[in-house]
Amino acid sequence: MRKSSILIVIVAILILGTAVYFSLAQKQPNRQSSAPKIAVSIFPLGDIARQIAGEEVEIVTILPRGASPHTYSPSPSDLVKMQGSKTLLIIGQGLDDWAANLASDLPGSQVISMDKDIELLQPPEGILIGEEEEGEEGADPHYWLSAKNGKQIARNISEALVQVAPDKADIFQANLSQFENKMDALDAEIKGLFASKANKKIVTHHDAWQYFTRDYGLDWIGSVVPSPGKNLTPQQLATLQKLIVDNGITTIFIEPQLDPQLSSTLAEDLKLKLVTLDPAGSAEDTKTYDDLLKLNAERIAATLQ
Ligand SMILES: [Zn+2]
Repeated sequence: MRKSSILIVIVAILILGTAVYFSLAQKQPNRQSSAPKIAVSIFPLGDIARQIAGEEVEIVTILPRGASPHTYSPSPSDLVKMQGSKTLLIIGQGLDDWAANLASDLPGSQVISMDKDIELLQPPEGILIGEEEEGEEGADPHYWLSAKNGKQIARNISEALVQVAPDKADIFQANLSQFENKMDALDAEIKGLFASKANKKIVTHHDAWQYFTRDYGLDWIGSVVPSPGKNLTPQQLATLQKLIVDNGITTIFIEPQLDPQLSSTLAEDLKLKLVTLDPAGSAEDTKTYDDLLKLNAERIAATLQ
């Protein structure tokens, strides 16, 4: 090889190396190490917060995916996760008190419930109508299962983000507007899935779906486990069986976070299908809050005639 050829090769290698260096550098997230951090209790809040915050605020979600917020006991490692965050966003209404209790161990941290300006519903009575529910406190906490409420949650999250990073308010506002448009479209899309269904009656494993059924015109007949850890009495189970038969129910919706045993037995006895819903977002296919709403809507719609 001639000297000039060697020179050309060396220059080419230098140019290529520089190009690769800069393209890799650009792929690094531009989150600065000084980005403020906030903690949230469960995945739906964490993902909405991620969409509004972009790279400007670090979001840490406490509940591991696959765990139920109703039955979770935090570990010391959850406290470590929250280190460096002075703000914790929760659902409230008793669902994620475990997270609020953790925050009380961190000096100077504030806990903000995301239910501001959301029309909260009382816990559903369903087949327990007329019976006193013991130990029920607060409203039905599953308000994130509605695209309309998702928009309001995003506004509440946005306010909290402005508190921790006031100089990024414009970015949060732009992301919020985009998110609100997306939720409007998703809301219409989900309504469309159910519009032509003749039988809109459903039976679920636990009482998570009241906001969803209200917004999308479904008729919630009852649930097998009124609230996690609480079983129906034999009389209530008999009532539920009768309702299932009388209302032409074909499917019981179970959930990955909760033991499906009672639903399985019921499905076997009454020859019903079991279909999995995912209210908290633990499946591989719910990468975003949007996925979570859409996936559940599609799974319910697929069982209705
Ligand atoms: Zn629940």
